[in-house]
Amino acid sequence: MNKKQYIYNFFKKHPNKVVQLKEIDSAVKEDYFADNGSYDIYVNRQPRQLVKMGYIDELGGYIERPSRGKFKFIKGKKKKVPKNPFSSKVKKTIKIRDGYKCQMCGVPETTDNTLAIDHIIPEDSGGKGVLTNGITLCTTCNNIKKNLNVTTFGKNLFKKYLALSITNKDTKAVSFLKELLQVYDKHKFN
Ligand SMILES: [Zn+2]
Repeated sequence: MNKKQYIYNFFKKHPNKVVQLKEIDSAVKEDYFADNGSYDIYVNRQPRQLVKMGYIDELGGYIERPSRGKFKFIKGKKKKVPKNPFSSKVKKTIKIRDGYKCQMCGVPETTDNTLAIDHIIPEDSGGKGVLTNGITLCTTCNNIKKNLNVTTFGKNLFKKYLALSITNKDTKAVSFLKELLQVYDKHKFN
């Protein structure tokens, strides 16, 4: 078994789970030792190289790097290639325009919390990677939007806002939001 195989085997045993580089390294070393009586195997940069490979036939999936020193083997899925990504220049312009804040919840960008640029109209629906189709979102809001799609996300947000306005007895907001939600129903957007 070649050395690369040991790393593949590790990922095969740990699908869809975030693992630290240290974990990979010590498990691979133990496996290698069991077979060869030596620890002469170095994981180092190999997982990062696997990330760059995209879909790996031998693994039946791909490896992603959720953050520094962490890896995740996504089993059975073809890696999604962005159709209309934002260029780094456009991303920066969008962040400046949005004041480096999540446009849904207002969380500001910090060193620990990098904000993402998301397509308002998703790429799958033909949305382009241009300034007017970009919005700055935090990871939490971005995940909500991804799982719901843009109209559901908006509707849910307005519903929450309505409930809050009722509690606050903000009659102006209440009538505005009720009318707005009727528009969703009228156009059958959920
Ligand atoms: Zn947010």
